[in-house]
Parts: sequence; structure tokens; C-alpha cells
Amino acid sequence: MEELLTLPGVGRKTANCVLGDAFGIPGITCDTHVIRLSRRLGLSANRDPVKLEFDLAEIVPKKDWTAFSHLLITHGRNVCRARKPDCPECPISKHCPSANHPELW
Ligand code: SF4
Repeated sequence: MEELLTLPGVGRKTANCVLGDAFGIPGITCDTHVIRLSRRLGLSANRDPVKLEFDLAEIVPKKDWTAFSHLLITHGRNVCRARKPDCPECPISKHCPSANHPELW
């Protein structure tokens, strides 16, 4: 992480993605989907990606960080979209405090 962060244009989001996907070192990639879904799912109230990353690191087992990031990103692209989440078709709706609550989106 420290070495990647010295490269121009590389922040924690990119560094975590590279660590996870290229080096097999667990990383939580806090992109727009991970931030939005983490908040909707009640995993963290933070909008700041670095604070959110550390919140998620507390509750997600380290071995699952990379896969967890990919799952949230895929779910955010395909189901829990920013403007119109598809709660009726969402397979995790029974676990989601924001299901069918537009005021929480
Ligand atoms: S129930 Fe709705 S708000 Fe919750 S994760 Fe699924 S699509 Fe997103």
C-alpha cells in the first residue's frame, strides 16, 4: 500500500484494487458503489471513502475484503443502482434496512 500510494494519481481506492486483484493481498475498494451500498445496507454512515474503508475492515473478515468489494460493485451496477434501486428484485432485500425506503437512498 505505501509503495503504491507514492505513484502519481494512485489513491487508496486504486491501491486496494491493485493489491486485491493483482497481488492477492486483501483490499477494500471504496468506489462510488461500495460507498452507496454500505450506507444503504447500514454497514457504515460514513461518506468519506477512507473512513468507510476502515469501518468495513472492522466488520468484514480480511480474507473476504477483495471479493466483498467486487460483490458490492456488481450489485450496485446491476440491482442497487444510484437513482433507482430495484428493491423488489433484490436478493438481499430482507437484510437491507433501506429496502423500499426511498428516503434512505
Ligand atoms: S433492498 Fe434495495 S436498497 Fe437494499 S440493497 Fe437491495 S436494491 Fe439496494
